Amino acid sequence: MDVFAVPGLPEIREGDDLAALIRDRVDLRPGDVVCVASTVVSKAEGRVYDFDDFPPGPRAREIADRLEAATGESKDPRFAQAVLEESTEMILEEPFLLTATRFGHIGVNAGIDRSNVPAGDLLLLPKRPAASADRIRDGLPADRVVVTDTCGRPFRHGQRGVAIGWAGLPASRDWRGESDRDGRELGVTVQNVVDELAAAANLIAGEGDGGTPVVVVRDFTFGDHDGSDAHFRDVEDDLVRQALRDWTYD
Ligand code: GDP
Ligand code: MN
Ligand code: MN
Ligand code: MN
Repeated sequence: MDVFAVPGLPEIREGDDLAALIRDRVDLRPGDVVCVASTVVSKAEGRVYDFDDFPPGPRAREIADRLEAATGESKDPRFAQAVLEESTEMILEEPFLLTATRFGHIGVNAGIDRSNVPAGDLLLLPKRPAASADRIRDGLPADRVVVTDTCGRPFRHGQRGVAIGWAGLPASRDWRGESDRDGRELGVTVQNVVDELAAAANLIAGEGDGGTPVVVVRDFTFGDHDGSDAHFRDVEDDLVRQALRDWTYD
């Protein structure tokens, strides 16, 4: 498998046709997986906002005050308002905001980004990254697209790339029912392929001023496995989320 960045992409602005910009710069093959940083998907979709677009309500003020008390740093209630509007559930309110977005992804600050946003204060995640992936795929000679974001994880330091939307391949490979090297049947392993592709792509894309938001994964074979599109856990089968809820509200 080869993983390489698409060279020469410009600063992306609202209305840009990402698929056209990509296919003009790289000779894509049908099996390629085109991984696109959510940052540029959001920019193309006009998800750039200013603080003043989010006049804070009482709940946002309360959250900002509480965050300030917990961290000792001043917090802008307009930012809290933006996070609230992007979220269906606040999972943690201090010392940082951990929320569930409308499309099911859980992230700090609802994934709202303040880096690599020249045209405004805030960059919101795409509204429906799976639909974004579908749209980009429609404009490409490649069959598979993953929309990525950089995200922290519980239990481990550091951030890594994750998939927040995908099209043209299943999210996971189901190994259940297959055998290990001793003939023992695998009982639980469902390998999240789109997250692993996103992590590989994010490693090449980088986080700073590299200007490489699109990465192609070539010659990745899914193999002869059942696929699954389960990706974001529902709260009912997410024990960690339930425990956080109990801990926060008890
Ligand atoms: P995120 O992980 O989706 O939040 O995106 P990042 O802000 O980490 O950026 C990922 C990569 O895309 C980095 O190499 C950035 O320099 C690059 N990048 C971000 N915005 C643009 C843009 O508008 N044009 C280009 N060419 N690169 C960008
Ligand atoms: Mn981001
Ligand atoms: Mn990033
Ligand atoms: Mn193992």
